[in-house]
Amino acid sequence: MSYQRVLLKLSGEALMGNLGYGIDPAVVAEIAQEVADVVKSGVQVAIVVGGGNIFRGMKASAAGMDRATADYIGMIATVMNAMTLQDALERIGIANRLQTAISMQEVAEPYIRRRAIRHLEKGRVVIFGAGSGNPFFTTDTTAALRAAEIDAEIIFKATKVDGIYDADPKGNPDAHRYQSLTYNHVLTHELKVMDSTAIALCKENDIPILVFDLSVSGNIMRATKGETVGTIVGG
Ligand code: UDP
Repeated sequence: MSYQRVLLKLSGEALMGNLGYGIDPAVVAEIAQEVADVVKSGVQVAIVVGGGNIFRGMKASAAGMDRATADYIGMIATVMNAMTLQDALERIGIANRLQTAISMQEVAEPYIRRRAIRHLEKGRVVIFGAGSGNPFFTTDTTAALRAAEIDAEIIFKATKVDGIYDADPKGNPDAHRYQSLTYNHVLTHELKVMDSTAIALCKENDIPILVFDLSVSGNIMRATKGETVGTIVGG
């Protein structure tokens, strides 16, 4: 079994590699190559990019900045990541479109749902930048929202760990990795998979979330084939 249309959530940190801040172009190139392999296998791929490698609204607001202003900066930071990913995809010949939830017509299309779906049907990767366009939200929630809007079958939450554990696997050798979990379990135990708004939206719309390690080469492709590469959260 293979998925037909997936939504890949890439955190800003994923694009940072081992740097302390910003974007590692070599890491972005590797991710682009993995996405390319998946697209060439006929799977439609939409991507929501985070911005935490550059700016986090919550952190800036804790330091005194107005929260909404900080969040808008965070959303704009995601566009830098999205443009970098776009460039990396283009360099290896993968057709794509960047759509942003905050209009930046000089550099990206505005987010238009029907147009995004049309791009996907034509085999183009669609990158969603600028989050949901609303402060007080996250790019995880954006991933859940866009997945519901474009009718994606699953969200791939690519992270630095190979799934969800009952304890922090770093420093806890007895930590156990779950193969599957329900939305309710994640919500009631406040597991740090995605924020609760994102999980609730996925639950309401019956969109499973697969959490897996992005740094293992070929994992995105394995995930699209339905292989168990991490932890799946579902009904
Ligand atoms: N953000 C927002 N609304 C959204 C999505 C993102 O206000 O719909 C802001 C928020 O300040 C957030 C920042 O953009 O901290 C970067 O996004 P996020 O922290 O989700 O990125 P990630 O953790 O995936 O790198």
